[in-house]
Amino acid sequence: MKTEEFWNPEHIVEKFWNGLKDGVIYGRKCKECGAIEFPPHLACNSCGYHETEWTTLTGKGELKSFVFTGVLNARLELEDRGLKYVCGEVQLDEGPAINAVILGVNKKKAREIDGKLPVRVRPVFYDMGRYTTLFFELDE
Ligand SMILES: [Zn+2]
Repeated sequence: MKTEEFWNPEHIVEKFWNGLKDGVIYGRKCKECGAIEFPPHLACNSCGYHETEWTTLTGKGELKSFVFTGVLNARLELEDRGLKYVCGEVQLDEGPAINAVILGVNKKKAREIDGKLPVRVRPVFYDMGRYTTLFFELDE
């Protein structure tokens, strides 16, 4: 029984971020119903069971919808880097749906994929300097 891990949410967060640095995506899998919590979370949001265990995710999934950001919800750290991106709902192959940043989508690309959703995406482990975060890009 990994008591320390179980009772220490900070440990979960730390393992998650350290994983991304190494190109590994950690989630938590419910021991009762098998649902995957991502970003990792101690208890299961699907059935409420209190025990979950580490699992890794491929980071592959489908982009189901997206929006361009406006002034109020722009990701300044991305704008500063001159990156083209949209925010969208990504459903990971393992189940969880998350709000994510999809890199490399300009207006032209957005028009191309708009009528074709969902489209496949793959993970990008992006070095932000102080930390590595998880973005996505179109898998084409
Ligand atoms: Zn569950």
